[in-house]
Amino acid sequence: MADADNRLAVSRIVLLGPPGAGKGTQAAFLAEAMGVPAISTGDMLRQAVERGSALGQRVQKIMNSGALVDDGTMADVVTDRLQQGDAQDGFLLDGYPRTLDQAHTLSGILEALQESLDAVVLITVDEDELVKRALARGRQDDKEEIIRERLRVYREKTEPLVGHYEAAGLLRRVDGDQSIEAVTAELRSVLS
Ligand code: AMP
Repeated sequence: MADADNRLAVSRIVLLGPPGAGKGTQAAFLAEAMGVPAISTGDMLRQAVERGSALGQRVQKIMNSGALVDDGTMADVVTDRLQQGDAQDGFLLDGYPRTLDQAHTLSGILEALQESLDAVVLITVDEDELVKRALARGRQDDKEEIIRERLRVYREKTEPLVGHYEAAGLLRRVDGDQSIEAVTAELRSVLS
């Protein structure tokens, strides 16, 4: 149940789902409803690339190929971000974790902060629809062959997280093949 403040009961959430499922869009709405920051590792890396920082220079090629940045680099990025003040009362992670190693790193980070995840929401969308959406979005890493590669990497590296979080009793599923408003409503309902 949402309280009078219109905030959701849970506060440490991971959004899981293939590229193009609408995680970023939904993260923005949800973060507002929850009063916690939406943390997108993809956005953080893109900003590093734009700034031309050492991190940005190191990850640019990898990102443009549709591959994943290595787990060690991502552990540094996320550890640093979750220690910042605005994430102490909760956060919405969009695009992290993406491998089992990252899921273990995340629980380690949270354990050290004496916290734990409240929920992992899987947003599912049909693959052809994902390709159509990604092409319409037109980002630099959104050429069809790169999109297919990102989906292949998702299935190989990230999909095992579904079973991992299901076994932990944290997984909730939302049908992402609906209007943005309908997905938001379903998300709010599975998190209430
Ligand atoms: P996204 O915007 O979440 O789709 O991320 C864009 C790109 O950034 C991905 O294709 C990866 O190359 C990289 N990236 C973002 N998050 C991660 C992560 N958790 N692990 C590895 N690479 C990531």
